[in-house]
Amino acid sequence: MEYFLIEEKKLSVKLPLPYKRIDKKEIKDGSRVPEAFVVFGNTDDFFEEVCRNIRHLGSSKVYLKPVIFFAERKLSPRVSAMADEVFSSSELDEDTIKFELKKISRINDAIRKINPIEDEKEDDLFLRVLRFIFTRDRRVEPVRDRTSFFGITYPAIESFFSKEDYALFSTLEFLEENGSIEGEFFEKVHLCNKCHCSFLNFMEVCPNCGSASLFEESLVHHFPCAYIGPESDFMKDGQLVCPKCSKKLKGLGVDYDKPAVIHKCNHCGFFTQEPDVKTVCFNCERESSPEDLIAQTIKIYTLTSTGKNFAIYGFESPLLKALSEQLNILPYNSFLTLVQLELERSKRYGVESSAIAFQIKNLNDIYAKLGKKTDNLLKEIGSLINMATRKSDILSILNKGTILFLLPHTPLKGAEVVKNRLVIEVDKLIKENVGINPITESSISEIPKKEAKEPEELVDELLKNLKQIEYKEE
Ligand SMILES: [Zn+2]
Ligand SMILES: [Zn+2]
Ligand SMILES: [Zn+2]
Repeated sequence: MEYFLIEEKKLSVKLPLPYKRIDKKEIKDGSRVPEAFVVFGNTDDFFEEVCRNIRHLGSSKVYLKPVIFFAERKLSPRVSAMADEVFSSSELDEDTIKFELKKISRINDAIRKINPIEDEKEDDLFLRVLRFIFTRDRRVEPVRDRTSFFGITYPAIESFFSKEDYALFSTLEFLEENGSIEGEFFEKVHLCNKCHCSFLNFMEVCPNCGSASLFEESLVHHFPCAYIGPESDFMKDGQLVCPKCSKKLKGLGVDYDKPAVIHKCNHCGFFTQEPDVKTVCFNCERESSPEDLIAQTIKIYTLTSTGKNFAIYGFESPLLKALSEQLNILPYNSFLTLVQLELERSKRYGVESSAIAFQIKNLNDIYAKLGKKTDNLLKEIGSLINMATRKSDILSILNKGTILFLLPHTPLKGAEVVKNRLVIEVDKLIKENVGINPITESSISEIPKKEAKEPEELVDELLKNLKQIEYKEE
């Protein structure tokens, strides 16, 4: 079995492995699949870039492959944790490498367990991440890192996302919510509620005018007359004199003490013992109060047996799961049988019936944005469909989340109304609750009364005609 070697600079010694040199631009799908990728270099950036390129490939046979770093220099803890194995270049002896390669073959064995019947290309990010966790057979651990946008990151899976992508956290939340992984509390980080950056300035501000220009001074308590006031009020020609009884102060602890500290606003002159706290984001400058920040819980994650099962065979569709709670969703084969019956009825009795296909193309973006709140949204979509259809309508869901409807006794015009209502309502729901524009596509077809048609043909036609519809909001 061959290894692919990707170099930042030329490796001067020979690797004690069968290998082939490739350029980083040659990391792509479709080419020969190596046993593992070996990366040689000396900068964090190079290792990170190569790792990211590999993890972004489409085929699970390649993006899951082990990645080994040979580093000339000590890498940061974050970048080191991206690799399956890190060697320093002084460790390039045969025995060390042979020993560590056992781990590589363990990962490759796990990759082979993954359902091979599926599509070559995988676009479900949740599944990609879960499959990675499954094949690594280790906990997903956070690493504190001052160069990370979030201050803390999961290096092992970070390369599946683009830089500074909050989906890293919502993906893990989603996987925990659907039972694939289990989290154990690690810590909480505060993130900007606009851009998710963790680089925040916490500052004390005047409760009266909001200015951060505060002057801090001690309160002075004069024992003989019990007067309390800020130290500056006592100052007279470089000496402390009580503004109330005009006596000269003798000494701290003798006739006065300093019971507390007080803040004076340089802007409006307001005195306070409890200034407000405000945060400013160093990245986007959003000002916020601490309680409005995102308190992101960071956990250490472990794969569950459900997760193992999902990793091997793929997820049950969250859409199917949520819709099945309120609607009768038929398996695709039964749906086709009913379409067949409807085709015959239409031909024989001239019944006017129709079919609709409907899909939300960017469902994965929505999952990534909502994380564990996705389920509620999908249930809402279920109720919308429930309201737009009748009990006698027949529904089924295809793999990629396309919903098929058979509407018996519904002429094309009536089906058009149902379809438009669905598109408008779902669009509105997602815009309001997710804050992103859904990309919905739909199509409609009449059950032919004269020509003979196979049910599969009818569905193919619906799928082929799927398109985004334009409508104007009232
Ligand atoms: Zn003020
Ligand atoms: Zn006094
Ligand atoms: Zn920000």
